[in-house]
Amino acid sequence: MKPPVPIRLGDVVRLKKKHPCGGEHWEVTRTGADIGIKCRTCGRRVLIPRTQLERQLKEIAAGPGQVQSG
Ligand SMILES: [Zn+2]
Repeated sequence: MKPPVPIRLGDVVRLKKKHPCGGEHWEVTRTGADIGIKCRTCGRRVLIPRTQLERQLKEIAAGPGQVQSG
């Protein structure tokens, strides 16, 4: 059993599957059983079950405070 992935609010994650807009970085906007993520390229918000996100997760690119605005 793999330990749960420590996903925190404000984290920027990279997923295996790219968004249709071409973006692959997502900002975590909500945590819980479902994780809310926002595409950093087009700003679209998506709600995804935590288990599904963990399967699609490639890496956590940045934690809170390391996120660059703009
Ligand atoms: Zn996008």
